Formats: sequence, structure tokens, C-alpha cells
Amino acid sequence: MAKVKFYGNEAVPLEMHKVRIVQKLNLPPVERRLEAITEAGNNTFLLRNADVFMDMLTDSGVNAMSDRQQAAMLVADDSYAGSATYTRLESKLQEIFGMPFFLPAHQGRACENILAQVLVSPGSVVPMNYHFTTTKAHITLNGGVIEELVADAGLEVVSVNPFKGNMDLAKLRDVIGAHGADKIAFVRMEAGTNLIGGQPFSLQNLADIRKVCDGHGLLLVLDASLLADNLYFIKNREESCKALSIREITRRMADLCDIIYFSARKLGCARGGGICIRSQALYHRMRGLVPLYEGFLTYGGMSVREMEALTVGLDETMDEEVINQGPQFIGYMVDELQKRSIPVITPAGGLGCHVNAMEFVDHIPQSEYPSGALAAALYIAGGIRGMERGTLSEQREPDGSEVFANMELVRLAMPRRVFTLSQVKYAIDRLEWLYAHRRLIGGLTFVEEPEILRFFYGRLKPVSAWQHDLVERFRKDFGDSL
Ligand SMILES: *Cc1c(COP(=O)(O)O)cnc(C)c1O
Repeated sequence: MAKVKFYGNEAVPLEMHKVRIVQKLNLPPVERRLEAITEAGNNTFLLRNADVFMDMLTDSGVNAMSDRQQAAMLVADDSYAGSATYTRLESKLQEIFGMPFFLPAHQGRACENILAQVLVSPGSVVPMNYHFTTTKAHITLNGGVIEELVADAGLEVVSVNPFKGNMDLAKLRDVIGAHGADKIAFVRMEAGTNLIGGQPFSLQNLADIRKVCDGHGLLLVLDASLLADNLYFIKNREESCKALSIREITRRMADLCDIIYFSARKLGCARGGGICIRSQALYHRMRGLVPLYEGFLTYGGMSVREMEALTVGLDETMDEEVINQGPQFIGYMVDELQKRSIPVITPAGGLGCHVNAMEFVDHIPQSEYPSGALAAALYIAGGIRGMERGTLSEQREPDGSEVFANMELVRLAMPRRVFTLSQVKYAIDRLEWLYAHRRLIGGLTFVEEPEILRFFYGRLKPVSAWQHDLVERFRKDFGDSL
């Protein structure tokens, strides 16, 4: 594990911080967990926090702040216009990315709204390595279509490819050839590709894409929401970048892009977002939308306290010992699960650990939502809340038929600096127990199925009494343990 070598046999990721504020957690007994997941309609989105021990639903807006971030919040300059807080944030972004213009927004999807309204029109095409849910929604809302050009290796579940988020250059040239460069609104690269397991792209790949863009006069846009993890992986996996500092790598990436936008719910461990822009003309075209949708130009819907925390958080993102915590914990968890033959996406990415439900519960047909069933089972087994990323997260065809997802995953997000290693070991242990009894896990069926975003609000029930059997087995194996 990165900087500190261990003398003994067990090398573990070492936290380079100490915990100075804590929040008490509740681990309800397994019988209560069965009740809670039943009340939640077997949908982990509908669980109440009071019933959750390890919340691994998401890494969005739940990362731990540092003492310096908290301290900065106290000196926030609360004024509608001309706030010094804004100037500090703007200067920090200029220092890090080297782009002259900045527009604040209340979160990542708000940036996407502004970008799509200005750059996308009916008939536009937006090539990208991979889509994110809100990105795609804003592009299609404005009449555009997306083209996903991730290299084929990106979709292999088990792999040793260090950069599964890379875009396939040949596919990009084909798409430009097929539609014509004038139809391409922009080319989008997503750092730490969210929906395929937090997988990074390489600096070389970005440079190659820049060349193609230059050849056709295309804009290159970076979604930097998960940049911190991607930076860590470039530094540790890309030979030509090993000697560069995180700051140098960041600047080299930024120099290749025309626009960088981000969700500060992930980047910078705060809450908010923003767009950094190189061209003044583009800045002027986007600027008008900020007061309309977000707020005045010097806060853009963010609280000034969050903006101060973000400024410090961005600075801390340039410190390898700060950003390595997430990827190292995830790497540890993935390694340990693999040692136990538990199917996970490899190599380990950022964001979280992704359990392959298609294989874990290969006896459950996709029509009975294997990832949803596994997420419910893991909550019963350990009070651990993950997120279904499979068929449940898809939408039915207009004729009512199911769209079966390519991958059935349970995402166990690793909020940055939030969990201790013993909690991660506990999650590994409960997964190991569940894997040993995986045949007990059964499918789910809808009780209430909303037409849109069914994964958020839908309610399901088990197809048999399997959850009771699982609780019984838990009691047999664990006695009166929680
Ligand atoms: C989370 C995320 C977004 C959207 O950001 P929000 O702050 O949740 O609106 C956009 N892109 C990527 C890659 C993300 O991970």
C-alpha cells in the first residue's frame, strides 16, 4: 500500500488522518433489519438512516470534511453579490485548472443543464466514454443523443486493464465521420467513470482525444466529479506519470480541455458544483443561465459556507495522501473479496466496490432482480446499505417488457474518510457469510412500480419466504450477535 511499508505480513491501507468528530451508529438486530427492509419495500433507497449501520449507498455529499474545511466555513463572507468567498473559490480553481472563467452551480447536474442548454440542440451528438444518468437526461432533454465510446475492455467485469474508462479512438473517428463534425456538440470525458465501476481513463488517452478534437475543431469537456480517484490512478498506474505530482497531472489534464465541470458533492468533499471555461465567448453564452437557474453569479445556489469548504477541499484534493484513502480502502475490499472468491468488478476502481450479482446469485433470473435481491439480503445480513445497479435501475420498454441490464451489480460506495478499516472488514465478513449461503437468497417482485425512476420509489416483495430463512440461518450461525 502506497507510502508506508509494513514489517509484518498483513499490509493494510493506513489512514493518514485522525478522527476528531464522530457520529454514533446503530446496528439493529437481524429481526429488526428484516422488518426495516420489508417496510422499505425491499428498496434500499427507502430505508431510514436510523436503521442503517454502514451507509454505502453513495459517495455523493457524504464525504467527511477536514478540520481545515470546517474552520474555513466560519470565515465565509455571506453577501448576495461580490462575496470574498466567491473570489477565494474562483482563484483556487484558476490556480488548479488554469482556466480563466468560472461559473458556480448548486450541484453537478445543474452544470449539465447549463452546458446542454447552450451547446446541445435537436440533432446534436455528444460522444463520451460513458454516460452518467443526469448527463444523458440533460442532453436528450435538449434534443441531442449520446454515443458511448468506451473501449470494449471497459465493459469486461473481470479484467487487469488499468484504464477501463478509456475512450476508443477509432470509435470516436467513426462517429465523427458518420455524423459530421458540425453535428458534434462536444466530446465528453468522464473521470472515474461512475456507472462502469469508478474506472479511470489515462492521461495519454485524453491527449489522444484532444488531437482528434483539434483535427475537427471540437470542444473537449471533462466531467471532473470523480477526478480525485482518476488522478490517484493515473499517478499510480500510468508509467509516464509516476514522477509527476498530483498538481502537475491535474494541470496537464486541464490543459487538454476546453471546459471542466464537476459535482462538489464528490470533488472537494463539500456540496455544490461549477464550470471552468477557457473561452470568454463560451463563458458569456453560459453566464446568463446561472442567475436564471442557480442564483447570482457569486454563489450559484451554493451556501457560502460550502463554498469555503470546497475551496479548501479542492486544495486538499491535490494532496496524494488525502485522495489515496478512498481508492486504497476500495482496493483492500476488492482484494479481500477476491481472496474469498466473491465475484467483484476488477480492477478496483474509485467510488466503491461493485459486487457482481449476476454471478453471486446466478440462480436468480434477471426478471426477479438479482441485484435488488442481493442488496436487500446484504442489508438483512449486516445492516449495510448498498445500491442496486442492474435491471431495477432500467426502465421498461413502452410495450411493458423488461430491459435486462448488461451488468447486475450491487454498488457498495466508500464515502471518503468516513469508515474505519474494521468497519470495512465487517462488511467483507458479512458478504463472505452471505456468499456461503447465497442459495438461500431468492428473487423480488414489484408490489408498486412507478413508471419513471422506479429504482428510487418502487416497492417490492420477496418471491418466497427466503428472507425468513436467511434470518433463521443468521441466528444459527451467529447466536445472539447483532
Ligand atoms: C454525481 C455525478 C454527477 C452529478 O452530480 P450531482 O452533484 O449529483 O448533481 C455528474 N457526473 C458524474 C460523473 C457524477 O458522478
